[in-house]
Amino acid sequence: MISIFDEIDTKVNNCTQFWHSLDEYALEDIKENKIFEGVLRLLSANKLGKERLFVLTKTSIYSFNKRNDRIPQLMSKINWKLVEAFIEHNLEEERYGFKIFQNTISQDFFVKSSEDLDIWINHLSSISIMTDLEDDYSFIKQIGKGSFADVYLAQDLDNDDKYAIKRISKNKSQMNAIGSKGMINEIEIMRKLKHPYILTLHKIYETEHHINLILDYVEGGELFQRIMQNGKILESYAAKFCANLLDALEYLHSQNIMHRDLKPENILMVSKFNDYEFKISDFGLAVQTQEKQELRCGSPGYVAPEILRKEPYGKEIDLFSTGILMYVILSGRAPFPGKDTKEILYRNKECRIYFQDKYWNEISQKAIDMVQRLTDPNPEFRISINDAKEHPWISFLTKKTHRKIYIPKQLEESKDKIVSPRSGNASMIKISYRAHNEKRGEHGFATERVGKDKHSWVGVLLKKHHKIVTPTHRAKIMASGDE
Ligand code: ATP
Ligand code: MG
Repeated sequence: MISIFDEIDTKVNNCTQFWHSLDEYALEDIKENKIFEGVLRLLSANKLGKERLFVLTKTSIYSFNKRNDRIPQLMSKINWKLVEAFIEHNLEEERYGFKIFQNTISQDFFVKSSEDLDIWINHLSSISIMTDLEDDYSFIKQIGKGSFADVYLAQDLDNDDKYAIKRISKNKSQMNAIGSKGMINEIEIMRKLKHPYILTLHKIYETEHHINLILDYVEGGELFQRIMQNGKILESYAAKFCANLLDALEYLHSQNIMHRDLKPENILMVSKFNDYEFKISDFGLAVQTQEKQELRCGSPGYVAPEILRKEPYGKEIDLFSTGILMYVILSGRAPFPGKDTKEILYRNKECRIYFQDKYWNEISQKAIDMVQRLTDPNPEFRISINDAKEHPWISFLTKKTHRKIYIPKQLEESKDKIVSPRSGNASMIKISYRAHNEKRGEHGFATERVGKDKHSWVGVLLKKHHKIVTPTHRAKIMASGDE
C-alpha cells in the first residue's frame, strides 16, 4: 500500500531509518506527553532479543536500554506511521506483535500475550495511523456526503459503540483537489482537541484506497438543516447555544487555534430534540498560531470583515462568525443576503447589519446587544470571549451565584425595542447604536448599520475568483505558501 502520509512522515523525521537519536525535546516530551509504557522485544538475528522498556508519548516511541534508565537511547516519531498487528505461527509457538512502518522503513515489536497486544494496539491507535479497518468496524449505512468525503454510520466491533466514519478517497485527482496537506492540517489540529462541543477524531485508518477518520457520531444533523426546517431557534435555547459556543471557542483559542470557518453547515447538532448542544466540525481551514494571519479564507456571509479588508487578523474573527451565527439562529435570516457570492461578499465587507422589526420584534434587547457586540466590524472593539461570557444575555446561565453583573449602559437606560429605520421609530435604532458605539465613536469608528429588506437563505459555496479560499484553492495555497 502506498501511504499518503509518507511525505509528511519523511518531513517530520528527516531521516531514512526507523530509529534515530534523541531530539532536543525528547525528555520534555516524555515528561509532558507520556501515554503508556511497557516491555517489548525486538528481533535480532532472527531471534527474539531481550525485553526492553518502551515509552509511548502523543507522537513518539522511545526505547530504553535498561529498565531503570532515566534517559532513552533511541526514539522514533510515529504519528504519521502505520500500525499493523500480527500473529506469527511457527513450529514451537505463536508470537504476537505489531509492525510500525512507513514506506520502506519498519520495525516489528513482539509482545508477551494477545492481551498485551490489545493494550498496545489500543494505545497506538490514538497516536498512529491504523490499517485493519474491517477488523475493527462494520459499516452500517451512508449518512452523509460532502465535496470530498462520504460519511458512514459504523459500529465498533469490540463494544457496539456507534461512530461516524468520514471516508476520503486516495485517488490522485481527489487528493490534488482536497490537498493532502489540507487534510493533514485538519488531522493535526483535530488530534489535539478534546472538548464536549467539538467533534472528536478518535482514530485514523488508511486502507488501500481510502483515508478513514473515526469521528463521534452526531445524530441531530447540521444546524443548517435545522434552521432550514424550523426557521429559527427559541431565544432561551439560542442563549444556551451561544454560551456553549463561547465555551468551545475559549478552549480552542486557549490552544492558539482559530477555526476560521464557523457557519451552520459546520455545526452538527447532537440530538433532534435539543437546540443547544452541538459539535463543531470541519477544521479544514483551522490554524494553530500566535501570529496574526493574512490568508484570506472563510465563507461568504460569515467571514469577518477585516479578512475581506485584507488586514492581518487574529482570533477575533471567530467571534464575528459567532455573532453572525447568533443572528441567523435568532431570526432565521441571513444578515448579508444576496443573489450571488459577489453580492453577499460585498455586504459582508460593508458589514451593515440590520435588525428588521418583522424578524426581531420578539427578540430581547439583550440578545440584539450581544449580536451587535459580536459583529462589530472593528476587531479591536469586538467583544472578547471573557466579556461575552459576562454579558447579561448569557451570564446567568453560567454563573448562578455571586455573578459579576455586566450591564451595557443603553440596556439600563432604554427598554425600547430596536425597530426598523423604515418604521416611524427609526431613531430608536440609532439611539441603541449610539450607546453601543460610544467607545468606538471616540476613536472615530462608529458606524450605523442598516440593511436591505430582502433576506434569503443561501448556502453559498466559496468561489475562487473572489479570492476567498475554497478547500481546493486552500490546498494550493498551503502548497505554495502564498495567496
Ligand atoms: P464539505 O467540504 O463539502 O463541507 P466534506 O467532504 O468535508 O464536505 P463533511 O461536511 O465533513 O464532508 O461531511 C459530509 C456530510 O456528512 C455532512 O452533511 C454532515 O452532516 C455529515 N457528517 C459529517 N460528519 C458527521 C458526524 N460526525 N456525524 C454525523 N454526520 C456527519
Ligand atoms: Mg464540511
